[in-house]
Amino acid sequence: MRIPPIHPFLFAVYPILFLWSSNFGSVSNQEILVPFIISVGGAAVLLLIPYFCFGWDIRKIGIWASFFICTFFSYWVLHRLASYVLLGKSVGLSNYYFLPVWVFILFLGTACIARIQGNLNKMTSALNVLSCLLLLFSGVNIARHSFETAHAALEPFEARLDNGTPGQKNMSRAALGGGRSLPDIYYIILDGYGRSDVLKNIYDYDNSAFLDWLTQKGFYVANRSRANYCSTYLSLASSLNCTLLNNLPTEIESGGEAGERLLVEMIRNSRISSFLKDFGYKTVAFSSGYSKTEMKSADFYVAPPGNISEFSNVLISMTPLDAFYFHLFHYDGLGNDFHRRRLFFIFDNLAEVTRGKGPFFVFCHLVTPHPPFLFDEKGRSVSPRQPLTFAEASDFHNMDPLLQNEYRSGYIRQIPYINRRIMESVEKIISNSSEPPIIVIQADHGPGSMLDWNNSDPENSVLVERSSILNAIYVPEQMRRFLYPNMTPVNTFRIILKHGFGQPLELQPDKTYYGEPFMHTSVL
Ligand SMILES: [Zn+2]
Repeated sequence: MRIPPIHPFLFAVYPILFLWSSNFGSVSNQEILVPFIISVGGAAVLLLIPYFCFGWDIRKIGIWASFFICTFFSYWVLHRLASYVLLGKSVGLSNYYFLPVWVFILFLGTACIARIQGNLNKMTSALNVLSCLLLLFSGVNIARHSFETAHAALEPFEARLDNGTPGQKNMSRAALGGGRSLPDIYYIILDGYGRSDVLKNIYDYDNSAFLDWLTQKGFYVANRSRANYCSTYLSLASSLNCTLLNNLPTEIESGGEAGERLLVEMIRNSRISSFLKDFGYKTVAFSSGYSKTEMKSADFYVAPPGNISEFSNVLISMTPLDAFYFHLFHYDGLGNDFHRRRLFFIFDNLAEVTRGKGPFFVFCHLVTPHPPFLFDEKGRSVSPRQPLTFAEASDFHNMDPLLQNEYRSGYIRQIPYINRRIMESVEKIISNSSEPPIIVIQADHGPGSMLDWNNSDPENSVLVERSSILNAIYVPEQMRRFLYPNMTPVNTFRIILKHGFGQPLELQPDKTYYGEPFMHTSVL
């Protein structure tokens, strides 16, 4: 009797489950579905085509299919390994050289498998058992995360937020509206956009023309502004809910997937969105490409055609697909190319999404000038020469000064183009609005050329770079006088809701938190 090979299917879904279990806090179940179907379908094609076309022994085809699948999903690991062996560092070896090597490995393996003479039943059983164990391991992890998350309920979070946070149904219209229609509100996050003095001192870049333009347009530029948290999702979970995170339940304080999932939930279904909904606002959210800030449940979710999720991107970058794309187009990986198009799509559409019947709350998280660095001062494409990653400098250059300079030049080269596109958008938003809008242009944290998560010395300039942010706010005059130079994002919407919507809110301390555990390390 021939033992049927089920292992190719299990090896094909293993990378997806593994990636899911290691990113359980931010990846939604829907994001898994498409890669899952493609992977299982791919395994079926690999098994069935040689079987029906050439009538080979299904067990041998199974061994070959599993070999192919494992080699396919290990491309990135093998590439890094080869780079490390040849160059002494895990990045830098071009796909031009490595892709042919990978193809050679594939042929060599195929030739060896074709000559296998042994007991195919035994080999198939062994592979079936091995793949089952791998899957079981990931399955147990996922079940554990699901259990923890199910128990980390949102009720305590709701309860604690009542303490001086928006949510009370005090519907007085206060200063805003007053019989007229309410203004559209734009919350534009430029990820990692540093404060002008930091750009001057560390990047030798004078950004005053842009800030002068904003000021002249009527923006208040908080020129001593700092982030409350130094990473994206902590910062946005805080600012979108008008709360410092140390008010939150212990699941979040202790970190881990359950806490992460709660924070992501706070971004996707924020107090600001639900509060504004009570006033008749509809939320418009642009796709960011970054799982934790994808608000797919918004009233209007705006994404470029053929949108690829961050999860699929990471999966693609594990395989040679990115390298094939690179070879075909002699330039970029698939993920980078798509992320660049996504950013330009947002710039093109930012002022166009509020044309229907409002009022609208527009949430737009642009993962730029944060790495990867994808365009120059004129918006011409630049290739980061590695698969799409939102990792910061320290994650891939290990504080190598040469690469640190490369980070700085790549980062700063994008600024003039970002400024130009933002100015165009602001111009259009203001001229399209029947009621003067509210526009917040803010960074979630500063740049990261010196970022080193292990070094949280407050005296260190690392923190100055990472925590100092661009923060420009366009509000009606009656609110503008409450803005101040060193305000932090936790207070942005507190001021807007207090002085625009009559909410009894007090300011939170303008503190910056850094490092792990992030809650209690107030450093600035
Ligand atoms: Zn960020």
